[in-house]
Amino acid sequence: MAGGLTGPLEAAYYTQPFVMVQRKPVTLRSYEEETPSGHPPPVIVPRAEHSISRANISSNALKVLYRLRDAGYQAFLVGGAVRDLLLGLHPKDFDIATDAHPEEVRKLFRNCRLIGRRFHLAHVRFGMEIIEVATFRAAHTEADEDHGVDEVGHRVLDEHGRILRDNLYGNIEEDVWRRDFTANALYYNISDYSIWDYVGGVPDAQARVLRMIGDAETRYREDPVRMLRAARFAAKLGFTLHPDTEAPLHRLAYMLDSVPPARLFDETAKLMLAGSGAASFDRLIELGLLPHLMPDLAAAVAEFPDAPGTRLLRLGLENTDARVRADKSVTPTFLFAVLLWPAILRAAGAPQGPLPSDPQLLLTAIDEVLGRQLRRITLPKRFGLPMRDLIMLQPRFERRSGRRALRLLEHPKFRAAYDLLLLRAAAGEIDPELAEWWTRLQELPEAERIAAVEGRPAESGEAPRRKRSRSRRRRNPPAAT
Ligand code: ATP
Ligand code: MG
Repeated sequence: MAGGLTGPLEAAYYTQPFVMVQRKPVTLRSYEEETPSGHPPPVIVPRAEHSISRANISSNALKVLYRLRDAGYQAFLVGGAVRDLLLGLHPKDFDIATDAHPEEVRKLFRNCRLIGRRFHLAHVRFGMEIIEVATFRAAHTEADEDHGVDEVGHRVLDEHGRILRDNLYGNIEEDVWRRDFTANALYYNISDYSIWDYVGGVPDAQARVLRMIGDAETRYREDPVRMLRAARFAAKLGFTLHPDTEAPLHRLAYMLDSVPPARLFDETAKLMLAGSGAASFDRLIELGLLPHLMPDLAAAVAEFPDAPGTRLLRLGLENTDARVRADKSVTPTFLFAVLLWPAILRAAGAPQGPLPSDPQLLLTAIDEVLGRQLRRITLPKRFGLPMRDLIMLQPRFERRSGRRALRLLEHPKFRAAYDLLLLRAAAGEIDPELAEWWTRLQELPEAERIAAVEGRPAESGEAPRRKRSRSRRRRNPPAAT
């Protein structure tokens, strides 16, 4: 691989005390021979010298690991799970790597399905939990077929043009170098509970440094999404980017422009909806990535950094993070309303707020901003359409007199629209009294609600209600919503 891996493997790393997990220094198992790949051998951290306990590993993942081991295969817990366990965090999922080929994995588990077109991955299902088992990949097969990233020149075809899959799979020695950051490239060996570290991931995690494996610029060029992953892991883990890992980001940010929008949707969701949205947003700005992901938002935030729209965005991301921490649901619908809010205010000609109430003006502003955003990030319609509704409902909160106000309470999007209203009030875009009134209205018993809205004089700016003729009412029955 270009750039090689010799740099990060300075022996000094391994002579430092291993203070993150415990105070004893790491003892090294020495290797006499070179590894077949020509890369340096791994440092093996024995069970006694690291903090990963089986008690914190999913029992289903353990079952899969043990069964692979008992069938004579190598089996390791890999990736984010090892990193998170080492850091004392709760892993989101438990991925496994093995030298068993996908078909061999399938034979071992009844509850197993192979997925993927080129690289096969085995999914072993236990109720709601899926344990992903990946066969070690050969060197230079560049990531992630599920995201359509092409491998560079290492397809081997048979006489029918079919890929000979065997050439895609390799051994652990090869598997390690295709991973992105050193802290993501640790292998927990189920046969003796040790950690295999080829790239200095343990000391990097200990020092809370995010470091790209190999030459950072080459690795970002291979797959520009790694730039977003750098921002995401720095935010989620509170790691500092190693200077060599950070430097190319600023010049290569433009490469995000060519990433397929559907993949950017997945990555944006991971950045913003996984509990560290606010920190991710800050990293995206610092690293110069935001203008290539959300250009309108980046422009609005840069132009109006202290405007209520920008404050709403931050409060919205903080709320979302709090909901994730409290195990409450979060949706791309609300997220994108929050993310695009400063840009929509700007496009509607009211960058300092409040949101204009003219529906036509509003619709034009939303569609202009959303239209441009969709060229970068695919927001599926099932999120985009309700996002529009959420915003279009906002002017209706201004009309508090009469039963129409009560009907708003019944609207299927009321709850989300009300949450957005609360954010607008907290951000100083609208008078907090309006939000408080809607809060109180919901708390009132049914009968008192009617009194509350009928007692109110029509608001200034509110159009007087027209009396509809009977004949018109008959011709246009209310839509069933
Ligand atoms: P999370 O906790 O967010 O799931 P993770 O580290 O498990 O973090 P995943 O996206 O689930 O991240 O990927 C699993 C592993 O696969 C990573 O730890 C990394 O080793 C490798 N990986 C994933 N995507 C890439 C990529 N684009 N380039 C290189 N390696 C990758
Ligand atoms: Mg993961």
